[in-house]
Amino acid sequence: MSTLFLRTLRDDPADAEVPSHKLLVRAGYVRRVAPGIYSWLPLGMAVLENVERIVREEMNAIGSQEVHFPALIPREIFQESGRWADYGDALFRLRDRKGADYLLGPTHEELFTLLVKGEYSSYKDYPLALYQIQTKYRDEARPRAGILRGREFIMKDSYSFDLDDDGLRRSYQAHRGAYERIFTRLGFDYRIVFAVSGAMGGSASEEFLAPALSGEDTFVQCTNCDYAANTEAVEIAAPEPTDPADHPAEQVLDTPDTPTIQTLVDRLNSMALGRHFTAADTLKNLVLKMRAPGADDWELLIIGVPGDREVDLKRIAGQLDPVQVEQAGPEDLQREPRLVKGYIGPQLLADLKIRFLVDPLVTEGSAWVTGANEAGKHAANVVRGRDFAPDGEIGAVEIRDGDRCARCGSPLEVARGIELGHVFQLGRKYADTFGLTALGQDGKPVTVTMGSYGVGVTRAVGALAEQTYDDQGLCWPRSVAPADVHLVATGKDETVFAAAERLAGELEEFGVRVLHDDRRGVSPGVKFKDAELIGVPTIVIVGRNLADGVVELRDRKSGDRRDVPVDDAAAQIRAALDG
Ligand code: ATP
Ligand code: MG
Repeated sequence: MSTLFLRTLRDDPADAEVPSHKLLVRAGYVRRVAPGIYSWLPLGMAVLENVERIVREEMNAIGSQEVHFPALIPREIFQESGRWADYGDALFRLRDRKGADYLLGPTHEELFTLLVKGEYSSYKDYPLALYQIQTKYRDEARPRAGILRGREFIMKDSYSFDLDDDGLRRSYQAHRGAYERIFTRLGFDYRIVFAVSGAMGGSASEEFLAPALSGEDTFVQCTNCDYAANTEAVEIAAPEPTDPADHPAEQVLDTPDTPTIQTLVDRLNSMALGRHFTAADTLKNLVLKMRAPGADDWELLIIGVPGDREVDLKRIAGQLDPVQVEQAGPEDLQREPRLVKGYIGPQLLADLKIRFLVDPLVTEGSAWVTGANEAGKHAANVVRGRDFAPDGEIGAVEIRDGDRCARCGSPLEVARGIELGHVFQLGRKYADTFGLTALGQDGKPVTVTMGSYGVGVTRAVGALAEQTYDDQGLCWPRSVAPADVHLVATGKDETVFAAAERLAGELEEFGVRVLHDDRRGVSPGVKFKDAELIGVPTIVIVGRNLADGVVELRDRKSGDRRDVPVDDAAAQIRAALDG
């Protein structure tokens, strides 16, 4: 450490929001250059390299082969896939001296597909799996949390190439298995959650999430079974459908000045209708607008949910992607004068040819109080399957603790996590676009089907810090720690420094990675604080106790301490690490 390029900081950086960010900066692992753009210092590089090594080993172990693509990509390639337009503002675009457009790759589907197309042509060439560990560029709307969401970041991205759906399923399972081993070896507490792959066309899609309070992703897990899903993909148990004919006829009610669900419920309860109403008896109809990729015009979309539930726009957007959705504004509503703001009901929507989707909680045969499509009027006993028929269902309500698991009926709980990786069956989207086919056994061309698998490599460093830090600093799992042992020599006594030097050499001979604090003239207190902040899992102190022939061994995480004889220290430390 007397020569290591490292300066630890006493204070948190002003721009840091989450603990991992504060600590990685304070402990001298990374430095910010601009929002979402970081430099990596030697300690950070050591951790990053460990993560990359584990990722490489596990990818190689399933027979995936490493390649490397440029980050700088000519526009034409993304033009062909449609992503030059579709990727929107998140794409970094630039121009060369001749005026030709380029982009910095946010992912590399196009290049993987084209590369394989260029080399392979026969069914005998498949299956194939390729990966790269590479820097990606995305102009994220909200770069935050340090390296957790960067604008420049490292991703391991890989693709599998198969001739049929069975092959794709096998490749998917192999990658999923590799990811389980990667995240286990990295020391993560992680969950595999169902995800939707949007209209990308893929079928199976799962995310690997690290539960963390600072996580940006919300996911839902069952308190009983192993069901877990992100909030876009989650399915909750809905009541059983009933017979729509079981209800009395629709009844229109005068309900002036009832702009909110609560004022409506109060009004209903003051009308002596012979029953008590709650918000859950009302059907709330939210007006959104949507637009297909490449289309100019927005189309209205109305979503019906029980009145006691909030609508989760992000959840809806996730399911409709790449179709865009937004809340409709007054000018959108004006285009359809028969929609009466505050009194919209689904009874009319089929006539108006407005697309109407309901949350599955609005089951077939359920009866609701909802707008009567006339100012100041609502209707009761409006029954799905009798008085209105939605165009379809979409999970739209904000999931809350206590919603029921669709698998086992037990309560669900909502938690936050960081997306570490994503595996999904991409299918033939890119193979179709770029004409990636193989000549089949029968001499006919077969379109190749692809799986897509990503790991956030730099994000994994931040996420691990986030899951393992404590009030003293970082606290790495050994598999990624920048060293096995943080060896601290304290005091002014040269024999101490000589003994520490000797011990460092012995440990290194055993293959133990040592970070040796051999700084002279730095107080023991400062050295201990730095050791705790840096977070190497085992701390060894050579100091005053050397006079008694012992050195101190500390476990960074538990704080457990014990003395070991200096003459046998290297062997005992190695044994402790192996144990
Ligand atoms: P997110 O939902 O967090 O934006 P994504 O779905 O856009 O992620 P993918 O395109 O699936 O991400 O990328 C694969 C992996 O790359 C993600 O699982 C994540 O770990 C990582 N990743 C994505 N965006 C970033 C970023 N801006 N900074 C760091 N890592 C990222
Ligand atoms: Mg994803």
